[in-house]
Amino acid sequence: MTTQNNPSYAAEPKSIKIPPVYLYLFSEGDGKNKKLLGGKGAGLCEMTQIGLPVPPGFVITTQACLEYFDGGFKLPEGLRDQVRQAMSQVEKSMSLGFGDSEKPLLVSIRSGAAISMPGMMDTVLNLGLNDETVRGLIKRSGDDRFGWDSYRRFISLFGEIVLKINSDLFSNAMEALKKERNATYDTTLSSFDLQGLVETFKRIIEDNVGKPIPNDPYEQLFMAIEAVFASWNGKRAVDYRREFKIIPEIANGTAVNVQAMVFGNVGEHSATGVIFTRNPSTGENVLFGDYLERAQGEDIVAGIRTPKPIFEMKQVMPEVHRELLKVRETLETHFREIQDVEFTVENGKLFMLQTRSAKMNIAAGMKTSVDLVNEGLITKEQALTRLDAAQLTQLMYSQIDPENKTQPVTVGLGVSPGAASGEVVFDADEAERQSKTHGKKIILLREQTKPEDIHGFFAAQGILTTVGGKTSHAAVVARGMGKPCVTGAGDIKINAVDESATIGDHKIIQGDVITIDGTSGKVWLGEVSMVEPEFSKDMNTILNWADKFRRLGVRTNVDTPSDAAKALRFGAEGIGLCRTERMFNAADRIGIFQEMILADSPEDRAATLRRLEPLQKEDFKAMLRVMQGFPVTIRLLDPPLHEFLPSEEEIQRQIDMLQKSKVALDNVCRLPKILRTLDPQLEPLLTGDQQMLNSLARLQKSELDKKLETLQKIRVLKEVNPMLGHRGVRLGITYPEIYETQVEAILEAAAELIKESVAVKVEIMVPNVCTAEELKRVEELIKRVEQQVTEKTGVIVPYKFGSMIEVVRACMRAGKLAEMAEFFSFGTNDLTQATFSFSREDAENKFLPLYNQLKILQDNPFEILDVKGVGRLMSITVEWGRRSRPDLEIGICGEQGGEPSSIEFCHAIGLDYVSCSPYRISIARLAAAQAAIKEKKGGHGKTV
Ligand code: PEP
Ligand code: MG
Repeated sequence: MTTQNNPSYAAEPKSIKIPPVYLYLFSEGDGKNKKLLGGKGAGLCEMTQIGLPVPPGFVITTQACLEYFDGGFKLPEGLRDQVRQAMSQVEKSMSLGFGDSEKPLLVSIRSGAAISMPGMMDTVLNLGLNDETVRGLIKRSGDDRFGWDSYRRFISLFGEIVLKINSDLFSNAMEALKKERNATYDTTLSSFDLQGLVETFKRIIEDNVGKPIPNDPYEQLFMAIEAVFASWNGKRAVDYRREFKIIPEIANGTAVNVQAMVFGNVGEHSATGVIFTRNPSTGENVLFGDYLERAQGEDIVAGIRTPKPIFEMKQVMPEVHRELLKVRETLETHFREIQDVEFTVENGKLFMLQTRSAKMNIAAGMKTSVDLVNEGLITKEQALTRLDAAQLTQLMYSQIDPENKTQPVTVGLGVSPGAASGEVVFDADEAERQSKTHGKKIILLREQTKPEDIHGFFAAQGILTTVGGKTSHAAVVARGMGKPCVTGAGDIKINAVDESATIGDHKIIQGDVITIDGTSGKVWLGEVSMVEPEFSKDMNTILNWADKFRRLGVRTNVDTPSDAAKALRFGAEGIGLCRTERMFNAADRIGIFQEMILADSPEDRAATLRRLEPLQKEDFKAMLRVMQGFPVTIRLLDPPLHEFLPSEEEIQRQIDMLQKSKVALDNVCRLPKILRTLDPQLEPLLTGDQQMLNSLARLQKSELDKKLETLQKIRVLKEVNPMLGHRGVRLGITYPEIYETQVEAILEAAAELIKESVAVKVEIMVPNVCTAEELKRVEELIKRVEQQVTEKTGVIVPYKFGSMIEVVRACMRAGKLAEMAEFFSFGTNDLTQATFSFSREDAENKFLPLYNQLKILQDNPFEILDVKGVGRLMSITVEWGRRSRPDLEIGICGEQGGEPSSIEFCHAIGLDYVSCSPYRISIARLAAAQAAIKEKKGGHGKTV
């Protein structure tokens, strides 16, 4: 940057060190440079430069913010002068003077990072007021109530944000006064009341900081600028960035926007509002939002009074409404994106205070994508890339069952769609505790939410507030997160003292279950039945477009025919992983399966396997039939044995019980002898019972022997680390009869279907391979069985043979393995464990959260592919594998295969497909298209 870019500052002599340009007037700043100017600053510059009515002001750059931190919390040198110069420009445009007692200029100080973080950082309004300028303001406006109202707002905001005084002190004083005056709203307080409140607020400040609020407007201004800079590192903002993975490359530091105040709380024809250029819940092409008459800035977002829907403005201020419709068009045509706009009307004149791309839920995102393409504003590529693929899970949220007959207890505003049930919690900390520690599903019930409740949003299934509108804090944040939210449920009265609420006669306490529907705004007591969502027309359009752009195939991980059918409906193009061991979990087979594992000899094992084979064959037939000729990758058995064995503790408990019963039985068995000794004549009475006792004793002994034997076997099979133990192909090599039976079941199932003319495409996959020799032995085994099946059925079943890649050694031997394997599938769950030497359960339960918090690791590598480590191994494997076999088919079936950034990487290294759970198929379809579009546009995609 040079001073040439900034015409408002004259060039200075060369010998003097020129400080960097730390700020830009809205009429000059480059609205494309959000990293430097922040989103809000950039938006204000753009709006000013396209001729929209924006109050004059300037934006202090994020660079200045970073230098403030680097310089030990001191404003960078030169910034103060630049601010004074820029302020004189603002004074000139407004024909007002900063600190002028006759015609005072007031300014707002607002944060604004490159990425919007709604409500996470601080704002100060009405700055420039003091005991003198307030009189000027009153004179200028001719409205003394307005003057005192602005002043009391300034003192409390300055006190809270800059001087860090607890905001409750101010709001309690306000509430106490309202009570005294019997006033429901602050608007009913008189000018005299507000003037009194100013004095009270000033006293609060003196009592808490030991000195009065500064009088000098510039002192106020610089203190406020520092406070806004500092709010970048406030707890709320830091938590928010961590949760949404906003790293410094995306947004670093906040800009500060200093802007001339316009007043929505002066006179009859003033108002403030927040609107979206289209409905952000549904995407419908109508102006959407709320406004509040005689209100200022944060009133509307904070949900202090319930605002009016914007269409009502048409009656009250028809001209302004008409102008807003024009602004909407100008903004959408300019930004080619739905905008979220703040405005103020001062005495009938409209001013724009902010514009940014609207946060929408994905349903609205898809509708607007389709509409914007149809309106010729964006291309299909742009329509796809503007969507956040991960958000598609939002559409997998349940909806209230249309057949539900239960009556709601109240209806509020449905502001973020989806339905949720959970236990009521009244406080964000408690919500976090109940969800994290006790795994509970939570509905956060509050009068209204504040930015510091953000952790409660993360923890909750849904949010319910009793006041606030469509653009209240709760609504905006919940929508951004895709969580169901109902606001303005005014029939619910919260009693803060005993942490309870009432709806009519019903009392709700913490832990009571309620259900909310963020679409209709309905609230029920208890749990209400829900149904799975359907794909909408827009979603189908988007996904069909995505299918045209993507190169990666999308398969699914399923183990049952019904899940396979569901996956097909969602657009799966095959099964990438069928975990055969999961097929044994059903009640009719788990016992046989355990017997098979515990069998003493190959003969015994073969006998139990013979009982399992027909069951497996039927499973495979059903699965292959459902998949209608799409590839079905069946993985040979890879059971973590401990998951299938009876529990050692349970068997031991049974043994203890049987052993105790032995003592009791022995004593009872001795009874006849005792009786005989007492009186031989009594003995005949006991003969019948004696026989029963003897059989009981025999039964007890044989049961005890069986249990002891089982315990012994469990102990023999027990492994120190089962995940690294006798599993996968190692099991297949030690017990070949298991794999033989499975292969026979697969090939016979396919042969029978081929005879019925059903198209089948079988891929047999070997798990946990580390050496080529292992793969070779299984290949030979399969060929042997294949021959038998061909002889038995008369059908030659075509199939592919492949290896999972989930062991580091397999990556290193990819070239050799590919001589045999026709396909590879990356099992990145195991490969991640192996690469990090982390056991997943231990990592996630013990140290991974801290690692993420300390930024030792950015992400959980079990959810988001670790591109630098695991990814590197994968790209080597792809390269070496394809060197041996150029047409080697390669996919991924670990959990990361359904995560957008991992999918982008899989695209970049040339995989053929990703495979994920049915619910993530739509994410994968869209993310794969986005990766292809990005590559086409010259982005390299995500590489190592
Ligand atoms: C894997 O390891 O990535 C995999 C898909 O196998 P599993 O999760 O069954 O171990
Ligand atoms: Mg695995």
